[in-house]
Amino acid sequence: MSKVLIIGAGGVSNVVVRKCAQNSAVYSEILLASRTQSKCDAIAKDIKNIPIHTASVNADEAKEVAALIRDFKPELVINVALPYQDLAIMDACLAEGVHYLDAANYEPKDVAHFEYSWQWAYQERFKKAGIMALLGSGFDPGVSNVYTAYAKKHYFDRIDTLDIVDCNAGNHGKAFATNFNPEINIREITQPGSFYKDGAFHEIPAMSQHQPINYPQVGDRESYLLFHEELESLVKHIPEIKQARFWMTFGQAYLTHLAVLQDVGMTRIDPVKFQGREIIPLEFLKALLPEPGSLGENYTGKTCIGCQLTGIKDGKPQTYFVYNVCDHAECYKEVKAQAVSYTTGVPVMVGGAMILTGTWKGEGVFNMEQFDPDPFMEQVAKWGLPWHEMFGTKLV
Ligand code: NDP
Repeated sequence: MSKVLIIGAGGVSNVVVRKCAQNSAVYSEILLASRTQSKCDAIAKDIKNIPIHTASVNADEAKEVAALIRDFKPELVINVALPYQDLAIMDACLAEGVHYLDAANYEPKDVAHFEYSWQWAYQERFKKAGIMALLGSGFDPGVSNVYTAYAKKHYFDRIDTLDIVDCNAGNHGKAFATNFNPEINIREITQPGSFYKDGAFHEIPAMSQHQPINYPQVGDRESYLLFHEELESLVKHIPEIKQARFWMTFGQAYLTHLAVLQDVGMTRIDPVKFQGREIIPLEFLKALLPEPGSLGENYTGKTCIGCQLTGIKDGKPQTYFVYNVCDHAECYKEVKAQAVSYTTGVPVMVGGAMILTGTWKGEGVFNMEQFDPDPFMEQVAKWGLPWHEMFGTKLV
């Protein structure tokens, strides 16, 4: 029975809070804190079976987070605010001696650059403090890392290639919207793509490489090669991997809107003078777009996310695909969320439970593939994300 501090009150947080309340054998009390307290209150009002408190916090300020920790005394801080806040929240956890978990790696606000070095640099300090940081416990990163570790443990003596494939075949009925935080989403996909091959990452122009992939229960969808953060940790921790790539689907309408927004400068992240003050065009665009947490109602269709691996088992070639399919409307019925928030929020809750029950134990900073995948796989299926396997079929 544990108290947790959850930071952020957006689409993912809504699912995390509801799932923690469902798993009341592990989560006994929640403090939900975010920039806008009314958003915390809106989530908290439906939670009846465990105590939940709300607060406002600017999580860019480690001291503000530390003060909340001192007052509430949680065993774990769950960060489902934005990647910009990762380091400040890790600093607060270090100062107060509390475990840390997030769903996205740190990125600085002024450059769209994704790498683990900033958070891995906390390794010695977390070790010395005797606490644990679990990085990237969403779906991708998160479940995708655990799927890879599971494949390695059970089905491969050697992994040669890894393709993470992420399909959202849903329809929210809006002309243009992003399924998770618009700023973070647009920064991610407007960057050059990158894949790992033979010991190095290779850059390609943004969205320049694509192909149709036939997703189970969904069908053919055009999929684009992007850089994604779990590639960096997976090739570090499973160094035998020769090639690692990440693919994500986008519809034509989405790409057309994005191209126009880019062409007119609305996705820029440098300051622009407007009526005597400076604004960041992408931050302004975010204010105009629907919030991810508001997309769930009437959302139809499914997501299909998984890992395809090739390599060797018992001296023979092996091809393996492990995946989850999630239905937007079913998610909405259960927790008033669309499937992208759901597929992220469930593994956040399960990752937290791994720490709080001592199933995953360690001192320092960890990525998901560094732990035994079996208990996580069992729990993530139990709490809403069952997984399926295919042998011998190559999707990519
Ligand atoms: P939302 O934009 O819906 O929510 C973000 C929340 O963080 C908002 O409540 C926001 O407050 C709050 N916040 C922002 N800045 C601060 C701050 N300085 N202090 C306190 N709170 C702050 O995003 P999502 O819920 O969609 O995403 C949450 C996280 O999950 C992101 O980091 C995203 O990258 C990650 N993610 C990971 C995935 C995975 O599979 N690993 C997939 C999807 C998302 P306010 O509303 O007041 O602005």
